Amino acid sequence: MADNRSKAQSTRIIHNRRHRDVFGSPYSPVYNTTTYRFRDSEAQLDVIEARRPGHLYTRWGTNPTIQELEQGLAALELAEAGLAFASGMAAISATILAHGQRGVVCVGDVYGGTQELLANHCRPLGIPVTFLLQANAEELKASLIRPGMLVFCETPANPTLAIIDLRAIARIAHEQGALLAVDNTFASPINQRPLELGADIVVHSATKYLGGHSDLTAGALMSTAPLSEAVAAWRKNLGQLLSPETAALLSRSLRTLPVRIRQHNENAMTVAQALDGYPGVTRVLYPGLPSFPGHQLAAEQMSGFGGMMTIEVTGGGETATAVADNLQIFLLATSLGGVESLVSQPSVTSHHDIGKAEREKRGITDGMLRLSIGLEDPSDLIADLQQAIATANSSMPQ
Ligand SMILES: *Cc1c(COP(=O)(O)O)cnc(C)c1O
Repeated sequence: MADNRSKAQSTRIIHNRRHRDVFGSPYSPVYNTTTYRFRDSEAQLDVIEARRPGHLYTRWGTNPTIQELEQGLAALELAEAGLAFASGMAAISATILAHGQRGVVCVGDVYGGTQELLANHCRPLGIPVTFLLQANAEELKASLIRPGMLVFCETPANPTLAIIDLRAIARIAHEQGALLAVDNTFASPINQRPLELGADIVVHSATKYLGGHSDLTAGALMSTAPLSEAVAAWRKNLGQLLSPETAALLSRSLRTLPVRIRQHNENAMTVAQALDGYPGVTRVLYPGLPSFPGHQLAAEQMSGFGGMMTIEVTGGGETATAVADNLQIFLLATSLGGVESLVSQPSVTSHHDIGKAEREKRGITDGMLRLSIGLEDPSDLIADLQQAIATANSSMPQ
């Protein structure tokens, strides 16, 4: 579609095509190919020496199916460029290796894999890494000790849904000559567009909402052309590209992303309101509830509150485990963002290994359950939670 970028987000993503099909198919074929033949050596050299655009080798990123996906990813956040990866961690690691060599300051709670990458892999490579648990302006300023550093954060954060003020962080980063990269997985591009708020790079685990059906592993990056080119060079030589088949599956998923996210938002709000103040539930952490500490900020920088929430039940860790085990519709599984609702208990899963003292510093209690609210009817989800809470409490010693 000509001038796609002037259209609204859902129109852009449905009409994202690079190639016209000779059979009139509205969707592009899947180019399951690793290589591309040339008429003669001169034509090949024209592409190698960049006199003409062309395709050389799929791992380098020049596959039509993958490029069409990347055009769609860029359009979602109105970025100049999009890159697709084999996983969210591929997108995050390539970003850090390309732009974090002078040092990385990680603000707030971030995904466990990102923490491990920075602490266990980047530090031994000689990359200075600072973790700041709070988004404190003075601390951040003091940590940005040389130009060209990378600030990395995630909002809403896992599992407390803590909200970071992206405009404020971007301003401080830029004043100190640093770039800001934001993991936008929890919000999705429908609910939050960090580039519009001042971020330089956005990354996603496309395994979650972008894919949306718990059936593919992929990653995404949206940024300017020069910043993404530097990341693409790392992607190429680390071999982090996804397959054309997965790219086509992800492109298919993106066409329903706006409508899926709107329903995730609505279902999560309905569940959060039903559980807020419900007997046996001490807290509901959901950015859409006015009682949530980051509600005002979330309302300012997000256009929807998302499908993720964390509840805390009375009775602590054992009761929370019993609730999780008694749920019938929610699946006890890691991950998030699929059409099916999932439950996980952070203290025994994602945040088990950091220990109780460290969890408490991050505001994570044993009685917490993280819920990824899917697209089932919310009344069934509420009934499931209520029966699981009742069963858990009746089986606990008083
Ligand atoms: C899952 C996740 C990742 C990692 O993504 P993979 O696709 O599993 O590599 C990164 N960040 C966040 C916030 C996630 O939820």
